[in-house]
Amino acid sequence: MNAADDKTIVREYFNSTGFDRWKRIYGDGEVNKVQLDIRTGHQQTVDTVIGWLKADNNLAALSICDAGCGVGSLSIPLATDGAKIYASDISEKMVTEAKERGLATLGTAENPTFAVQDLESLSGSYHTVICLDVLIHYPQEKADEMISHLCSLAQSRIILSFAPKTCALTILKKIGSFFPGPSKATRAYLHREADVVKILESNGFSIQRQSMTKTRFYFSRLLEATRK
Ligand code: SAM
Repeated sequence: MNAADDKTIVREYFNSTGFDRWKRIYGDGEVNKVQLDIRTGHQQTVDTVIGWLKADNNLAALSICDAGCGVGSLSIPLATDGAKIYASDISEKMVTEAKERGLATLGTAENPTFAVQDLESLSGSYHTVICLDVLIHYPQEKADEMISHLCSLAQSRIILSFAPKTCALTILKKIGSFFPGPSKATRAYLHREADVVKILESNGFSIQRQSMTKTRFYFSRLLEATRK
């Protein structure tokens, strides 16, 4: 399967069964045990990022690009804390849901700005670029290109999360719970940390903070890198 096919499948998945599934996981309604575990893990990743940004005490002065924003789980709390957010996602359904949640939480559609856009077509310049749990949809060679592109948009910092290859066996055993039913056709790609670090460094960034979230069904390695 080539990368373009991969991307079409991902877009269709997150506009159909994937949307229904992830909207529930990234919500607060009733879910099954596996989904609850993934919800808890993902929330930990989001909370870690928010904690890092808040610790710097300059959130209200920051412009942030949330690439592959999903339903706005990160963008909305960051906007609540005063950061200027540009958030985008390849899935129109996810973006529509994010807009609704943003409006319900913040009472305005002014910030975040939500747009339907894939990562490759993002442009502009932001203090911080954040991309959480999206790399799982990219094979390594495509991930290199994507990370380099995101680096080119970041003035000072990039924050990325990915499913690390070290947990491969555990994840492969559980992969059915990431993409159940017919949508199993959507592939999940794992990444070696050394490969991700290498590409960040080759773009002029160095690692500042790192974290690992690991629950039964959710694995996410989080890296913060700043311009050298
Ligand atoms: N970052 C969000 C979060 O952590 O709450 C969402 C994570 S969700 C697992 C992955 C998201 O990446 C989906 O909303 C999907 O539509 C989006 N996505 C996948 N490939 C993309 C691409 N090429 N460009 C933009 N978004 C993409």
